[in-house]
Amino acid sequence: VGVNLKAIVTDAPHGGVWLREINEPVEHGDVLVQTVYTGVCGTDRGIVSGSLEFARKQEGFDYLVLGHECVGRVVESRNSSLKEGDFVVPVATMPGGCMNCHIGRPDYCSDGDFRAAGVYRKNGYMRSYFREDSDHLIRVPDPSLSLIAVLTEPLKNVMKVVDLLSLLGYRCITTAPGSTYSGKRALIIGTGPEALLFSRVFCDMGFHVIAVNRHDIGEKHRKLIEKSGAFFVDYSRDKLDGMEFDVAVDTSGDPSAVVYCIRKMARNGILFLFGTNGRAPAYGITGTDIDRVVEYNIAIAGSVDGGRVHYEKALRKLHEWYMQDRDSVRSLITAIRKPEDLDVFRFKEEGEIKSVIEW
Ligand code: NAP
Ligand code: ZN
Repeated sequence: VGVNLKAIVTDAPHGGVWLREINEPVEHGDVLVQTVYTGVCGTDRGIVSGSLEFARKQEGFDYLVLGHECVGRVVESRNSSLKEGDFVVPVATMPGGCMNCHIGRPDYCSDGDFRAAGVYRKNGYMRSYFREDSDHLIRVPDPSLSLIAVLTEPLKNVMKVVDLLSLLGYRCITTAPGSTYSGKRALIIGTGPEALLFSRVFCDMGFHVIAVNRHDIGEKHRKLIEKSGAFFVDYSRDKLDGMEFDVAVDTSGDPSAVVYCIRKMARNGILFLFGTNGRAPAYGITGTDIDRVVEYNIAIAGSVDGGRVHYEKALRKLHEWYMQDRDSVRSLITAIRKPEDLDVFRFKEEGEIKSVIEW
């Protein structure tokens, strides 16, 4: 027994993308959610092109429903904390059996038994309805945030890095008034959606932020970076000679960019590796680079995903931005498309930051 739904599906890990009717079995979960918006990101495009080899179907299905960035509306709830009409953001990573999963941190899953909606062993949210446990749904505090709340999922990754920064940052004393990061410098490699979110969050924390790419960028991206209070530099022209950074985040996954970061770190600096790109060419790290990491007490940390706590922090951040200036946060969403418009999975539009599908 099941219900017929419209869904965007792929044949993971081989790729392809189709809009089709699926007969969805009635899943477990105390809340029935109608999908309102889903965001499209590089991961979705990688799955569709077949280049993300770790993508897997949910057990018992001959397709994978795409979608991990989502905002929905509750249509039926057996949980008192969520009522009909509430907007919700689902937590896309589901726990497996390990201890970290048990304590609610499947982002630190230690045995790979987690499931990730729309990516790995769990159907995603690009379907007209889904059923979910209230434990995995976060209430959007204000209905006027319903569209920008689709940025919660990409922003939660940033909020986890902010937590890691305070953990690793215990090594170095900050002398700024109120222990803020004012006077410290942050380098962001890349100018994609995640990099723009990092830039704005780090500016809010008081950092002097420089976002770089290896080419010039369009007006839209440049304006957003500057509106956050950050600066853009094309580092193929300006190598930022003489400048050192207390924090750097690489969103490119390019080894040459990572080596560049190592050479730019200040004493006690922290470098986060965030972007992934298995196909990027190798680039040599030298003995001098290693000496610098050691002698400067540089910390290098990878970070993936985030926990429920980071979704909550991300939603609060989006709310704050919305209260400050609706337009700048709204302008991160550069296109709203229909589910029929499958080209969004094949091409990145000129000037795109975040494309959203309205259901
Ligand atoms: P994106 O738009 O592909 O961002 C990558 C950015 O890096 C682009 O602006 C790209 O510029 C730039 N870039 C590539 N090579 C560069 C280089 N050598 N120097 C400077 N900039 C360079 O993707 P996104 O959605 O923002 O995500 C960023 C990365 O994080 C992706 O690799 C994604 O898979 C990964 N990710 C990680 C997590 C996590 O939890 N760790 C979560 C989500 C996503 P061009 O577009 O001009 O090439
Ligand atoms: Zn686990």
